[in-house]
Order: sequence, then structure tokens, then C-alpha cells
Amino acid sequence: MILFKKSAELHKWIDDQRQNGKSIGFVPTMGALHRGHLSLVKASNKAHPITVCSIFVNPTQFNDSIDFDLYPVTIEKDIDMLEEAGTAILFLPSVKEIYPGGLKQKEKYPLGYLETILEGKFRPGHYQGVCQVVQQLLEIVKPDELFLGQKDYQQCMVLAKLVELLEMHEQTRVTVSPTLREPDGLAMSSRNMRLNSEERKKAPFIYYSLNYIREHIKPGKLESFRIRSQSILEEQGFKLDYFEIADAKTLEPVNDWDGEQDLVTLVAAYLNDVRLIDNLVLD
Ligand code: AMP
Repeated sequence: MILFKKSAELHKWIDDQRQNGKSIGFVPTMGALHRGHLSLVKASNKAHPITVCSIFVNPTQFNDSIDFDLYPVTIEKDIDMLEEAGTAILFLPSVKEIYPGGLKQKEKYPLGYLETILEGKFRPGHYQGVCQVVQQLLEIVKPDELFLGQKDYQQCMVLAKLVELLEMHEQTRVTVSPTLREPDGLAMSSRNMRLNSEERKKAPFIYYSLNYIREHIKPGKLESFRIRSQSILEEQGFKLDYFEIADAKTLEPVNDWDGEQDLVTLVAAYLNDVRLIDNLVLD
């Protein structure tokens, strides 16, 4: 694996590879890697001779400075895991490298409705920060395929929109890979490292509450299912930001289901100070 810290050097190296007809898959991450991240690397490796993975804890997407300060950093272990997964390139830029002009935002991305709901509503400015960093990264890497995890369902929609806004959609395909889970159903997440043993025991109730909807949902009014799932979590001591049943394509809330519309159920909940998100597409 080759490690780059400078954008210009990585950009040039990638240009040379492209001249030689090689396609590039790209996996952006914030590090503290787990098997969920590696599943994206593996999907990229299958489709492309070169996979670029980036690790950058992006300050502009944290609306809560404590969350930023406490974000886990395990870089040595990350390097070993990426090497073992056969990653060609690791891009490990500094904040200055990504934001040479400082952290102040130059561009406002017109994300519309997507930014007003769920994560957008509860983490103001979050998706603007995500778009800021991903624009920089896409312009450096210019990937043929961008690999994202369904774990961040709304983020996948935001980034598909960003790729269009940047008019990169003809060059860069966006591929969403399924959420990898622990054996007890908890979605793998870097933030799981912050759970103490008692919280870790409760955390799988998130998946349980999503499954409750999948198993019980019937056409008609959905409010009672939503309330029941919410109470499953509240009884365990979770504090909810949202628990929503929404249209799988638009994320508009669905209150009355015709039994045909594709649905996704999404949750964000705190266990003490740790905020966890998850979702389940209802098939
Ligand atoms: P992060 O480092 O949390 O910003 O995540 C980097 C990428 O990995 C994003 O596209 C995430 O959606 C994806 N990801 C995170 N957790 C998982 C998971 N459990 N399964 C699959 N992909 C994941």
C-alpha cells in the first residue's frame, strides 16, 4: 500500500494510472476502521485494479465539538487492516491539505429537502460539511466509482446529489453497499468503540426496533408501529432524535401505507453521550 499525504502527489499518481488505462474505486472514511469499511474496500477491489481509501476526520461536518474531540482515532490499526484488505492507496491528508483556505465555507450546496429532515434537521450544517470534504476528495481522486455504506442512508442520497451538482455523474458511479452488522445485529460503527459494556449490551435494541417494524407492518396507518418501536428503545434508556418510516426513494415520511410503496425505517438515538444511527429497508 502506498500512503499519500499531499493532494497534488496523489492527483499526479492517479493521473498516471489513468493514462495506463486503470480505473479507480474510492472509499472515503473517517478512520477507526471496522469490517463495514473493509467491505467497501473489498467491493472496490473486485471492480477496479486500484482502490483509494481516504482517512480524514472532517471537522466541518461535526455540529458538536465534543463529538469531534471524542471521535476515535486508531491509525496504526487502520493501516494494518487496509493493507490486509489489499488497498492500493491510503490518502491521509492534514486539515490544511483539504482546507488550504481555512475551514470557512465558500460554497453553499443546494441540497433542498434532504437537508431539512432526519440527520439534516438534527445535525444542522452536517451535510454541508460532508459535501465540502467530499467535493475536495472527489476533485483530487476523480474516481470511476465511489463506494458508500447504506448504514448512512441519507448521506448516500446527499452524495449522489452532490455528484450530480458537481456534474461528475458521467464519470463517477455511486455504489451503495449493505450495512455490515455484529452477530447481535448492531450496525458496525466507529462510534461503537465509545460504548461501555452496559451500553454495548443495550445497543442491539436499535436493530431490534427496526426489525419490529419489518415484522409487524401492515398497510394502513403506521403511527402505532412507529410509537411501539420508539417505546422499545425508550424503555431501554435511549433518547431518540427521530424514529421515522419514510419513502425509500425520497425520505418523505409515510403515515398511511398502501402496501406497495418502498419504505425505509430510520433511527437516531443516544445511549448516554453516544449517538447511534441505523436504518432498514423494508422489503
Ligand atoms: P465513516 O468512517 O463512518 O465516515 O464511514 C465511511 C464509509 O463507510 C461510509 O460510506 C459509511 O456509510 C460506510 N460504513 C460505515 N459503517 C458501515 C457498516 N456497518 N457497513 C457498511 N458500510 C459502513
